[in-house]
Amino acid sequence: MIPVTKPFLPPQEDYQKYLTGIWQRNWLTNMGPLSSELEMRLKEFLNVNHLLFVTNGTVALQMAIKALDLKGDVITTPFSFVATTSSIVWEGCNPIFVDIDKESLNIDPCKIEAAITPHTTAIIATHVYGNPCDVVTIDAIAKKHNLKVIYDGAHAFGVEVNGKSIFEYGDIATCSLHATKLYHSIEGGLVFTQDPNLLKKLAFIRNFGFNGPDAFIELGINGKNSEFHAAMGLVNLNHIDIIRNKRKTITERFSEKLLNHRSRKQIWHKQSENNYAYYPIIFQSEEAMLKAMDFLKAHEIFTRRYFYPSLANTLPYLEPKNFEITDAIAKCVMCLPLYPDLSMEEVDLICRLLMRIQNN
Ligand SMILES: *Cc1c(COP(=O)(O)O)cnc(C)c1O
Repeated sequence: MIPVTKPFLPPQEDYQKYLTGIWQRNWLTNMGPLSSELEMRLKEFLNVNHLLFVTNGTVALQMAIKALDLKGDVITTPFSFVATTSSIVWEGCNPIFVDIDKESLNIDPCKIEAAITPHTTAIIATHVYGNPCDVVTIDAIAKKHNLKVIYDGAHAFGVEVNGKSIFEYGDIATCSLHATKLYHSIEGGLVFTQDPNLLKKLAFIRNFGFNGPDAFIELGINGKNSEFHAAMGLVNLNHIDIIRNKRKTITERFSEKLLNHRSRKQIWHKQSENNYAYYPIIFQSEEAMLKAMDFLKAHEIFTRRYFYPSLANTLPYLEPKNFEITDAIAKCVMCLPLYPDLSMEEVDLICRLLMRIQNN
């Protein structure tokens, strides 16, 4: 059986070593020494000045919206994971969807301005499969219309644009460290900002708004993460180069073997390099995609329709709305299995089956 993804697990002894310290200190959560160490090491690894380790990628988004005090309408993408939209609704704002660009699969900056009204307060865009949005154009539009920008970088761990971390774009950026993501701390998330005042506010929000033992400065939430999760993050960071290299090798093999496959790929940002988080392919029709998916499944190989369906016409709490590009791509896209343990033989088998079924 080949699943679509398999969480990376480091050698158990490596994790065990951190547990001894946790037992000795008896400090289990609330920004303990391992959480601080993880924050420090991630700042170094990602080459960013500021970040906060939080509960998960969804809470990271909710904290970002709260910290920027967003109200009214928020422009966003219908082609993302549900958390991008649900966080907007959860924080009492209205998501206003704008269609995606058919090559980058990110929100189409050319269509953003037409959606801006006096009620618009922000743009929340996703770096889809880790591919950077057109951050320069989006930031220019935001400045012109006095809007805030949040980037959902759940897929974008380790991605850079023009030699700068993708997480340094926008007023706030977020990342997810969920077990299924490229780099993980079992559950976990990151919040990034360049603004020291905003950072301070986010730190208060993460800890119930506490300002000293008996004082409160903000409306807060419990956005903290535990020492056990930080430990997994620390151990996994020691393996990140291996994880990345294996994913790169698998990706290149897929591309080589699928050269003549009748599908196309997302076009990556010119000033950026793939982080190999996913291997999505876009079929010429939904029928061809489903046929391939069923055929692989019959061979116990599991793929995923990701993202499907469009967030704009599937959520029970929103009026359904159709978008030409998003709807077409959501119907035809499939993510192939991709995880460090996947062997070359398995990659070759997947490719052979995909080539066979398209010619049937
Ligand atoms: C995974 C994901 C999230 C949510 O992250 P969690 O850590 O699972 O809460 C948000 N946005 C996108 C695009 C994601 O893929």
